[in-house]
Amino acid sequence: MPYQTINPYTDKLIKEYPQHDDKYVESALTTAHKLYKSDWAQGDISQRLNVLSKLSELFTQHEEELAKTISQEMGKLIEQSRGEVKICAAIAKYYADNAKAFLKPVKYPSSLGEAWVEHHPIGIIMAVEPWNFPFYQLMRVLAPNMAVGNSVMVKHASIVPHCAETFERMVSQAGAPKGAYTNLFISQDQVASIIDDDRVSGVALTGSEQAGSVVAAQAAKNLKKSTMELGGNDVFVVLDDCDLDKAIKVGAQARLQNAGQVCTAAKRFIIHEKIADKFLAGFTKALESVKMGDPLDPSTTLGPLSSKGALQNLIKQVDKAVKNGAKATLGGKAVNQQGYFYPPTILTDIKRDNPAYFEEFFGPVAMVFVVKSDDEAISLANDSHYGLGGAIFTGNIERGKKMASRIETGMVFINTLSGTAPELPFGGVKRSGYGHELADLGIKEFTNQKLVVVA
Ligand code: NDP
Repeated sequence: MPYQTINPYTDKLIKEYPQHDDKYVESALTTAHKLYKSDWAQGDISQRLNVLSKLSELFTQHEEELAKTISQEMGKLIEQSRGEVKICAAIAKYYADNAKAFLKPVKYPSSLGEAWVEHHPIGIIMAVEPWNFPFYQLMRVLAPNMAVGNSVMVKHASIVPHCAETFERMVSQAGAPKGAYTNLFISQDQVASIIDDDRVSGVALTGSEQAGSVVAAQAAKNLKKSTMELGGNDVFVVLDDCDLDKAIKVGAQARLQNAGQVCTAAKRFIIHEKIADKFLAGFTKALESVKMGDPLDPSTTLGPLSSKGALQNLIKQVDKAVKNGAKATLGGKAVNQQGYFYPPTILTDIKRDNPAYFEEFFGPVAMVFVVKSDDEAISLANDSHYGLGGAIFTGNIERGKKMASRIETGMVFINTLSGTAPELPFGGVKRSGYGHELADLGIKEFTNQKLVVVA
């Protein structure tokens, strides 16, 4: 795919970016590897944490300009883009403040003598990242790895090159030496060659299941550690004893945020039959009241999808779902207006033999299922190839906790939508991938956890 910025609201090509050739990649690998061997990576952590502190300040200082860059390149509503910039600043600050404690040696009482585990960098991490949170996804990889001392090389999604080069410039402005963070405009074949390179020690990918399975195989072939943060088909369970108004409001937000292009967005709504009609009526009203428009206009409540390709895929997917027996009780047809808009859509009557039943809709399309009991809700929730997150709405926290422990996902939220914070580990199971980002778990993924024993 060529690297180009196309404004998804105006459909205008803004800029094309030439690809980096193999010579550029080789030189970037050499620089990044040299840095890993240097005092920057092997020496005092404070120098790296100072850069992260500065990076956090820069993100805060340049919030408006960075938010606009996101909105113009991939269509996110401006207020949500500001939120993304804020969380980037928070992640950088979180690791600047906490990495030292996370990485300090851990003692192990042992019959063999005095024993402890130290944490050391492992080298270059190759990251492949998606467009849906074009700065946050990069910060999730950069901040913990910079704290550890790993060099990071990134192939960002081809539709967000302006965000990609802006992020690299910010890291450099924060005082990072050359090679600490390198943006690469490269092909998938070049990614494979980099993963094959001995100087690269780890691979992190966030994206689709398809991309994950290809890149994870490349890492496995080279016996390199990888983390995979892939798709999700998260449930939003609404029980009969919940605060229904809140469930409707949060449910709509959980489906529409970022125009529905979030891996942990609520995608399958599982509603208890006693409140199903009321929920559906309120949910429909909430979804149909959106205002589609310019993501930079603060009164807009639903932005365009990120690309023409994303829109075409969603149109095909909904058509296929309906052909296979689903009912579109709201939306379901592309709109005829400027920009890559897809209207809020509700699909019901989705049977298990409908391909939609197992598919992730990366857009404002909600699948609604009605159940008679908690057991039925859980078996439906777990009847998925994915296992990323999920939400449960109930007035009885104990009931919610019991359900949460039975849902086969990496994260469950009770009475709120799936969210993210620097201090909370993020990751899934099943085809949603493996490994963690953020928090203490995230920083240890790409470290040499070295045991030392003194007899
Ligand atoms: P992809 O998974 O194709 O893209 C994510 C990143 O992976 C991009 O940088 C992409 O590069 C890269 N990539 C894809 N295939 C390979 C490969 N074989 N080798 C190396 N890099 C690769 O996602 P799409 O943008 O195509 O979106 C498709 C679907 O993926 C969505 O509908 C959604 O279901 C899911 N998705 C999930 C995300 C999540 O947060 N978990 C985020 C984005 C998408 P390039 O852009 O050049 O193709």
